[in-house]
Amino acid sequence: MKFTFLTIFPHIFDSYLGESILKRAQAKKLVEFTAIDLRDHSENKHRRVDDTPYGGGPGMVMQVGPIVKAVKALPPVKNRKIVLLSAKGKNFSQAVARRYAKLDELVLISGRYEGVDERILKYIDEEVSIGDYVLTGGELGALVIADAVTRLLPGVLGDDESSRDESHTQKGVLEYPHYTRPETWDSHTVPQVLLSGDHKRILEWREKHKKRKK
Ligand code: SAM
Repeated sequence: MKFTFLTIFPHIFDSYLGESILKRAQAKKLVEFTAIDLRDHSENKHRRVDDTPYGGGPGMVMQVGPIVKAVKALPPVKNRKIVLLSAKGKNFSQAVARRYAKLDELVLISGRYEGVDERILKYIDEEVSIGDYVLTGGELGALVIADAVTRLLPGVLGDDESSRDESHTQKGVLEYPHYTRPETWDSHTVPQVLLSGDHKRILEWREKHKKRKK
């Protein structure tokens, strides 16, 4: 699967995507991440991609032209979705991640400043928020989505990791608590059942201690 990030800060992506599971997924060619600098598609000799808002008011607005040009310049892909990161979008969730994991390419557009010229809505498939708060830019959101989706791609997680019944695999069900050595730390002890070696009782304990989200 391909992830294409449209951004004015392409280097933001390097560090996070260059570590751990996401790095290994790229090395195994299970996933491809590309960050495209929207300034390369500027319609202005100063490489500007923003301008003042019509109607006045504070801040700058990202222009629709460079974003649409960047999307149109992408090589053709059959099963692609174009998603704008936006505090006004529909909330991202594990169910949305599962839907995206079936795509060949996910294009994630990161806004900055006051946001993007509203006419962008004519050129995208979805407007997605990663939560009810306002970030400085869409890049963190794009990384959140890329991370959550990549984990779901076949072969990305090792056997021991993928067999895990993680939080949100079932809607509203959260994973059981984890413990590791030492057995006692600062007088806090590990539940005895986890030390018992009795797999049936351990499974029952874990099932009982899964939280349900209201
Ligand atoms: N003026 C906008 C508003 O009130 O909705 C906020 C703009 S924000 C400073 C700049 C960019 O950050 C947005 O265009 C969007 O791409 C991104 N962003 C901010 N909050 C976000 C969120 N909760 N989810 C996804 N993207 C977000």
